[in-house]
Amino acid sequence: MSERAEHVVVLGAGAVGVATAWYLLEHGFRVTVIDRQPAAALETSWGNGGVIHASEVEPWSQPGMPRKILGWLGKEDAPLLVRYGVLPRIWRWALDYVANCRPDRFSTNTLANLELALHSLRSLQEIAARTGIDYDRATRGVLKIYRDPAALDAAARGAGALAPHGLLFERLDAAGCAAREPALDDTRPTLAGGLFFERDEVGDCNKFTQGLAEACAARGAAFRYGTTVEEIVVRQAKVAAIRTDRGAIETDRAVAALGSFTAPLLHTVGVRAPIRPVKGVSITFARGGWTTAPRVPVIDDSKLFGLVPIGDRIRISGSAEVADYDATPSPARGAAIAANAAFTFPELKRHYRPEEARLWAGLRPVTPSGRPLIGRTPVDGLWINAGHGHLGWTMACGSGRALADLMAGQEPGVPLQTVPGVEAPAA
Ligand SMILES: Cc1cc2nc3c(=O)[nH]c(=O)nc-3n(C[C@H](O)[C@H](O)[C@H](O)COP(=O)(O)OP(=O)(O)OC[C@H]3O[C@@H](n4cnc5c(N)ncnc54)[C@H](O)[C@@H]3O)c2cc1C
Repeated sequence: MSERAEHVVVLGAGAVGVATAWYLLEHGFRVTVIDRQPAAALETSWGNGGVIHASEVEPWSQPGMPRKILGWLGKEDAPLLVRYGVLPRIWRWALDYVANCRPDRFSTNTLANLELALHSLRSLQEIAARTGIDYDRATRGVLKIYRDPAALDAAARGAGALAPHGLLFERLDAAGCAAREPALDDTRPTLAGGLFFERDEVGDCNKFTQGLAEACAARGAAFRYGTTVEEIVVRQAKVAAIRTDRGAIETDRAVAALGSFTAPLLHTVGVRAPIRPVKGVSITFARGGWTTAPRVPVIDDSKLFGLVPIGDRIRISGSAEVADYDATPSPARGAAIAANAAFTFPELKRHYRPEEARLWAGLRPVTPSGRPLIGRTPVDGLWINAGHGHLGWTMACGSGRALADLMAGQEPGVPLQTVPGVEAPAA
């Protein structure tokens, strides 16, 4: 660890902000973290699917997607629901999104995400080994199952293209899926097969982030919880202070790591960060007496949910709704993912009681390219680490490391995407 006196204020104590704080401390910066919640990781980093998945690095901006989304417009049960009401507010983002669905951009973005995801997995493992944080880590891989043979073939081709770049996977037939996870035995006749990703891991993002925040505090970082950032004060095109509802903090360096809320805040200082909230839901309940519950995390491609054992809990997550900044969970969408999970795991019906489960929703911060924005902004002293979409837990540690490396004047070691108009650093 180097010694330096510079002070950095990190805005947001989600998985990304806290990982950034950790690596800034590594470089010897003095760090203050601000969050409006009473503790770390209480918004999108609370109830996500829990999977650290290099296997899921494909952006949602992919060839063929714009046509599918148009067909789903306004349909309540659509896998990706865009509400008509938001269209006037997202047209510019949507045009960028469509441009990123071109095959060449899709493959560049996928590869960049894979590199960051693998960098992040190594970083997470190093932090976990060093700090001993208990976050219900499980290393049983992830099994993706398919009912449509064409979808399975396409997924196998996609994974095959990433294999030379470090993605490990194995293709399984239906019997192979049930052998890998016996809880799939009931649904085996409906399966075309699956892909097993042995290197994917599971862990509780909230527990890890809170543990890491404590570790950062023990190394001298100041955490200001229950504090809402109201303004980034800019003087002569430079960051001068952060104004909050509890007073101002003078600083000439700040990192915006506010997930979906990064875009509206940066907009106030003239920086366009193309990030839109895409709402998802999860249901968490105690495994209890469900002794035959899956041990291997399963992602069901045709029913579009993930069922993941996390410690002594089961979490089912899914759903994507381009709405606005409201993270209230919809009971209807929760019931829909529970019903889908019960189709694949009929035993679930005997063990799942909605009144004893926690229904949650979070806003995935999604960029048009499906890659996070990590680096400088045009405002001197203002940096960004946000826009991790469906991959924020997977990429948090690597992203925090990359941004802290950049701020310390070092090469980040992975390809990064910065805000429009700012040149990307060399990888
Ligand atoms: C249903 C669902 C399932 C998911 N599953 C996975 C998965 O399996 N694997 C994976 O890798 N990713 C998954 N994700 C994505 C992942 O959860 C997010 O990408 C990640 O949590 C984003 O982290 P963040 O730190 O950028 O944002 P956040 O966790 O939202 O943190 C931002 C912080 O900023 C604070 N904040 C905002 N505005 C202000 C303000 N004005 N003042 C002060 N504080 C403020 C908030 O309180 C919050 O703590 C999933 C997401 C959802 C919704």
